[in-house]
Amino acid sequence: MFGVRLPRRPTLGTRDRHPYSPVVFNAPQIKHSTQDLRRLDKQHLWHPFTPMKLWLESDPLVITAAEGMHLIDSDGRRYLDGFSSLWCNVHGHRVPEIDQAIRDQLDKVAHTTMLGFASEPATLLAERLMRIVPSSLSKVFYSDAGATATEVAFKLAAQYWFNTGKPERNEFVGFAEAYHGDTVGAMSIGRMPAFHKPYFPMLFKTHFAPTPYVYRYDVQGASDSERANVVRQHCLNALETILQQHGDRIAAVCIEPMVQGAGGMIVQPPGFLSEVARLTRHYGALLIADEVAVGFGRTGKMFACEQEQVQPDILCAAKGLTGGYLPLAATFASQQIFDAFLGEPWEGRTFYHGHTYTGNPLAAAAALASLDLFEKNKLLDHVGSTSGKLRHMLQELKELPYVGDIRQLGYMVGIELVEDKATRRSFDPRRRLGAEVCFNCRKHGVIIRPLADVIVLMPPLAMGEDDLRTIVNAVKTEIAAIRSTN
Ligand SMILES: *Cc1c(COP(=O)(O)O)cnc(C)c1O
Repeated sequence: MFGVRLPRRPTLGTRDRHPYSPVVFNAPQIKHSTQDLRRLDKQHLWHPFTPMKLWLESDPLVITAAEGMHLIDSDGRRYLDGFSSLWCNVHGHRVPEIDQAIRDQLDKVAHTTMLGFASEPATLLAERLMRIVPSSLSKVFYSDAGATATEVAFKLAAQYWFNTGKPERNEFVGFAEAYHGDTVGAMSIGRMPAFHKPYFPMLFKTHFAPTPYVYRYDVQGASDSERANVVRQHCLNALETILQQHGDRIAAVCIEPMVQGAGGMIVQPPGFLSEVARLTRHYGALLIADEVAVGFGRTGKMFACEQEQVQPDILCAAKGLTGGYLPLAATFASQQIFDAFLGEPWEGRTFYHGHTYTGNPLAAAAALASLDLFEKNKLLDHVGSTSGKLRHMLQELKELPYVGDIRQLGYMVGIELVEDKATRRSFDPRRRLGAEVCFNCRKHGVIIRPLADVIVLMPPLAMGEDDLRTIVNAVKTEIAAIRSTN
């Protein structure tokens, strides 16, 4: 492909000549130069969630290796993975135990189908997962992405009512700013105009309750918690109104429990989730918990529903399931839902849904190894104590200009930047300030990604205090360096 060009072998311990990222260890051995890889990428690739015009004008990092908490680029520069390689990494990269589990499975078989056959890792994983999910759940349906897990949830909910003689229960309640993935059903029940606007005409009708985005509500209150209470009650009242008006037609209420991730790391006030669960139950609908982002320890509990002892009817998980190694997702359902699908094949109760790579053995083996590490490393305890230290560090950012709001639960952080702190006026989105701040953090050896002007910190759960400090310092320096435009 490269004609006679000789493979480039970066010398070990090359001194860094680049103005960015100070640390260069052993450069990874790659066959092609950074420049060639960039050129080929730009020639052939279309990247997800990426304004491609900007991409074509940029010099993208080429990530070629990783070690522990660091990503390593094609020139050997190291960066802390402050976004868990898109919110999924748990224990760091190249974890010996997970690597070995995948190798061992590879020596048996890489893929077999779940359609009509059982498999060892998928079975053992199911048994293992059942020990940690909320006790209301007793079956697991595998797929391979967050969006497929939520689609499965919506279809299960709709067919549950169909199978139990209430086919009129086929509408859903979602929350403003919710994100459940990019497939058509997931877009219909999520609501993020910035992402979904072109598809509005093809999305099915959903009822949207307001989300308790406390910072964005103009309410009076002596303290933060008083304001949060007012907003929580307002949103719950609106949800109840929807359920009163349309209750008999609602199949399920779908919520991202405790934190709405892609919506901007919106942390719900205490008591919101448990009240949503109570209202949902009261009006006879099913509760779907989309734990794709918050599941597997992100908030400090294995599942975010545990924060308020909520027992959902359906729960979706994906991102952290394999420790961030391989695509695997799971939709958990209650026994009651499962039983409604039992019957003779000709009775039409079967769930005719599935994906080719569902329950992939390599991914299941990685997930089992990841769950072992949760126990061995007492990871939830670590997140519990270290997230407190992170909270402390984040206090230092509060007084910086442009820092409007800092939201955190466990290892999920959103720092919302605004042009005017007094009025909470946002920056002109064309400035792409969030992207600029995150880009500038690279020169401190830190990779993070924003959600518009919300700076997001989503470190791997195993990350320790020192690395968190490096990330917070980078963000602090780069926020302090923001220049006003007027
Ligand atoms: C990321 C995410 C999804 C979609 O997951 P994919 O694997 O990207 O399809 C769904 N729901 C939530 C809450 C998410 O954060």
